[in-house]
Amino acid sequence: MKPLGPISSSYQTIEGELSVGGRTASALVAEAGGTPLFVYSRDMIRQRVADLRAAMPERLAIHYAVKANPFEPVLLEMAGLVDGFDIASGGELAMVLAAGIDADEVSFAGPGKRDDELEAAIAAGVTLNCESANETRRALRIADKIGQIPRLAIRVNPDFELRGSGMKMGGGAKPFGLDAERVPALARELIAEGADWRGLHIFAGSQALDASALIEAQGNVLDLAARLASEIGTPLPRLNMGGGFGIPYFHGDRPLDLAAVGSALRERFENLPQVLESTAFCIELGRYLVGEAGVYLTRIVDRKDSHGQTFLIVDGGLHHQLAASGNFGTVVRRNYPLAIASHFDAPATEEANVVGCLCTPLDRLADQALLPRAEAGDLVAVFCAGAYGATASPSAFLGQGPAREILV
Ligand SMILES: *Cc1c(COP(=O)(O)O)cnc(C)c1O
Repeated sequence: MKPLGPISSSYQTIEGELSVGGRTASALVAEAGGTPLFVYSRDMIRQRVADLRAAMPERLAIHYAVKANPFEPVLLEMAGLVDGFDIASGGELAMVLAAGIDADEVSFAGPGKRDDELEAAIAAGVTLNCESANETRRALRIADKIGQIPRLAIRVNPDFELRGSGMKMGGGAKPFGLDAERVPALARELIAEGADWRGLHIFAGSQALDASALIEAQGNVLDLAARLASEIGTPLPRLNMGGGFGIPYFHGDRPLDLAAVGSALRERFENLPQVLESTAFCIELGRYLVGEAGVYLTRIVDRKDSHGQTFLIVDGGLHHQLAASGNFGTVVRRNYPLAIASHFDAPATEEANVVGCLCTPLDRLADQALLPRAEAGDLVAVFCAGAYGATASPSAFLGQGPAREILV
């Protein structure tokens, strides 16, 4: 037996079934027209943003990292909840503009921005988080060509990283950002060229559950920003402090202590050096805002036994749930939170493997999990599916195509 990850207590049972937003899994599947289906909860997203605001200093703006979940109804919901959006491609730029989001509060990071993407972003008035000196100079040239003043920030490759981070994005040689010691000269250059100087972006890592690691990283970010601003010689207009707030995916994971992070940051904000006194601060979060608010529903199409083990074979799989299958940046595969949605409150009585419908042994959603007995026709729920599910999985693999999505 291998343990399953923890299921958020926001998920409830109605008539024995998993429910989201007051509706049963089977009703949601009927409404959406079938499985596989991603269901995102508006209430859970709202609650998450409200909890975050309550814990963080008022001065800290909250941005949404669009790549976690760019489903248009989610973007529209977010537009009413957060202060800004962070995008990572020209495709995401088109999505936020189509959703009517104000370009003034959009920033664009990413290590390989093409000229056409730079031009579209500058024309729209989006802030570019420049990832290299070369990219900064291309942006200045393009802005000059189209007669616009570009809004430019510099992404810093910090000389530290977020401890315990799921995905390390800073410290040492990296494709992201400009090495810290090169930042002041480039900042002075772009200010001298007449760009609208939008400050610094310092992202130190992702998926941290340890509050003390985040507090330490945020302290380091503020220290580095202050040092760089002094060297640049002007007060810093904006500081994007990165994100890194994690969610519990696996057995034994504890939710982040948000209050501890918030109070440490409040204390730092009360003692800012002069170069940061008038700075506008933000954090950028993806999975923390939407990850737990999403559930993936897939139907069991077959049940079989092989050498004493039970296999529940579903109509979804790694083509929508690459991370849950253990093939997206994990070293050792562990079970995500998963349940038999059709019997959500039933006692677990048997050990089963839940596998996807693809012809590869990689397509595994739960390994030797203790579950209520389930048959073909029953629905399976994979939790923590609100971020990096639909868009971070190879939906074209084996001709399967994308899953349905709804926001309820
Ligand atoms: C991916 C990314 C984020 C969001 O990360 P989460 O772990 O989803 O919060 C934020 N900022 C940058 C620069 C990113 O690349």
